[in-house]
Amino acid sequence: MGGLDGKKGLIFGIANKYSIAWGIAQALHGEGAELGFSYAGEVLTKRVEPLADSIGVTFVEMCDVTDDAQIDTLFNQAADHFGSIDFLVHSIAFAPREVLGGQFVDTSRDAFKLTLDVSCYSLVALARHARDLMPNGGSIMTMTAYGSEKVLPNYNVMGVAKAALECTVRYLAWDLSEDGIRVNAVSASPIKTLSSAVISGFRKALRYSNEASPLGNAVQEDVGDAACFLLNDQASKITGQVLYVDGGYSIMGSPTREVLE
Ligand code: NAD
Repeated sequence: MGGLDGKKGLIFGIANKYSIAWGIAQALHGEGAELGFSYAGEVLTKRVEPLADSIGVTFVEMCDVTDDAQIDTLFNQAADHFGSIDFLVHSIAFAPREVLGGQFVDTSRDAFKLTLDVSCYSLVALARHARDLMPNGGSIMTMTAYGSEKVLPNYNVMGVAKAALECTVRYLAWDLSEDGIRVNAVSASPIKTLSSAVISGFRKALRYSNEASPLGNAVQEDVGDAACFLLNDQASKITGQVLYVDGGYSIMGSPTREVLE
């Protein structure tokens, strides 16, 4: 018996076995949830399908979240397959490589728009569709990072997108409260994945964060455990929040002992 027995949900954002979304999927599966996966495009099929097979997930569909028609199709497929769902995980972000380094001031209009579209607006679009599949209420979560609040060099426009995403969580939480749907974000430590590896200087940032966090960096499994909580009825009065799964990095006003020594 798991805490999510009988619950069904969609996970967006598995690219490979290093994805945070895959850590979340494994944890939700371990708690007994029935899952469906949506991934960005064909080049990822050979990575995502074996992961889905390994935990018995049969709903595995492509959806580029910049395309409204693909989002419509995906949710029609999900309605046919699941009838209704209880939760949705949004673990999606993208910025062109050239703006994840150098100066933020050089961000082009196109790069800004694309980053905010994929990394923030997509949550609005997915939440709107998810609402139709959640007649009994539900829980939606997304992934954010501390670069939304404080400057993390090279994170640049993604920090701006995460600030917008966290605000989006609050507005969605208010709107969807009428439907009994909660919306929250997890703010995670730096974790080595396909997307994060593209950020200039990421390896150094990962090492620094690990030393500067009271409990060290969180990993995919830690985020998975937090997701099980947020998507479960135990969190039934928690909405519009950012839950920090960052080893305590965000509480520090000065580097920890290890960094100072
Ligand atoms: P990842 O590359 O494994 O996941 C990002 C996902 O976004 C991929 O599956 C990718 O295919 C998907 N995506 C990009 N553009 C898309 C599009 N147009 N349509 C559909 N999907 C699209 O990397 P990750 O680190 O697991 O990132 C997941 C989330 O976690 C992101 O929101 C990221 O910002 C956030 N996050 C990551 C870290 C970190 O250090 N890795 C820390 C905090 C938050």
